[in-house]
Amino acid sequence: MPTLHKFAVLVLGAALLFGLLLAPQQEKPADVVARPSGGAAAEPAAQTATPTAKPTPTKTPPPPPQPASAEAVAAKANELGQVPVIMYHRIIAKPFSSIDRTPAELRAELESLAKANYVPVTAADFVRGTIDIPAGTHPVVLTFDDGNPTQFALDASGNPVPDTAVGVLFEVASRYPSFRPVATFYVNKDPFQLGEQANPGVAWLVQHGFEIGNHTQTHPNLAGMARKGVEKEIADNEAVVEKISGARSVTFAYPFGNPPRSKAKDNAFVAKGPSWEFKGIFLAGWNPSVSVYSKEFDPTRISRIRSKDKVKEDGCDKFCSTAWLEWLEKNPDQRFTSDGDKNTVTAPSSRIGDLNPDWAAQGRVY
Ligand SMILES: [Zn+2]
Repeated sequence: MPTLHKFAVLVLGAALLFGLLLAPQQEKPADVVARPSGGAAAEPAAQTATPTAKPTPTKTPPPPPQPASAEAVAAKANELGQVPVIMYHRIIAKPFSSIDRTPAELRAELESLAKANYVPVTAADFVRGTIDIPAGTHPVVLTFDDGNPTQFALDASGNPVPDTAVGVLFEVASRYPSFRPVATFYVNKDPFQLGEQANPGVAWLVQHGFEIGNHTQTHPNLAGMARKGVEKEIADNEAVVEKISGARSVTFAYPFGNPPRSKAKDNAFVAKGPSWEFKGIFLAGWNPSVSVYSKEFDPTRISRIRSKDKVKEDGCDKFCSTAWLEWLEKNPDQRFTSDGDKNTVTAPSSRIGDLNPDWAAQGRVY
């Protein structure tokens, strides 16, 4: 698609997304600030559409959580707290869309995350609950949409080009060794415009722990689109992802954040098809995600936060990344803090009631 058209579509999509389509599905922004622990995925109707099997009613209740480890208590672990999933698009020196960020802005955001003890995990690790980070640190999911060449390119020596997203990630990680340079890329038909070079390029990303996820073949607005068309968009892109990465997608992100149908239960067909099965589906959105271990977590509607400073535009003074990261810093009891053990899910007694029964055997409480 010509760049200008794509830009126009992006602007239109963003306006629709903000003004019309997400509004009825998510809590109002004011409510989100008032009680962010509820999150966007809290509506009960959405819970029926989860791709992972929900526990069927059983006669025996789940086992009560065991006592937390001393290390987890010392770290004030709360693995039922919220997780920021940050959404980026192009990383360019001279932005021409409000969703673009400059390399300097990305660098500053990643540095502030590193200083605040965040450790990146991929979207796939997040939705699987394989969050393997040190005690006392917080997961953050970095997602880059649309497979733009400003996100990833290798130079002649086979190293990431400086000032691409991957280049900046590695640069920050070299200065903050606990900051793991991983991210998830949601790509379309020509990932990073690598053409014939897509296979070796993407192989490099996969070898370095990055995730490639499905974002449809041509990036249409799926809202209202016939089921057949949606399935073709997903299947065609899945063939690309599998060809270049050697594996099927684990996660999917809606173009423009728009599901095909307004009712969550009517979108169940997106999660699983003849050639794909997504463990997590990401929206755009305006608040952090609830924990994957929480009863409130809906893997078909995971909220992301747009990367942006606290500017008035689009409500970013309250609902984009800088504002939310400040809020989580000021409200540490609402934030996901790791217990340092990937085999347990620790939370204080005031929060353990939120634990999804699927994770009861791993539950630890203090
Ligand atoms: Zn996109």
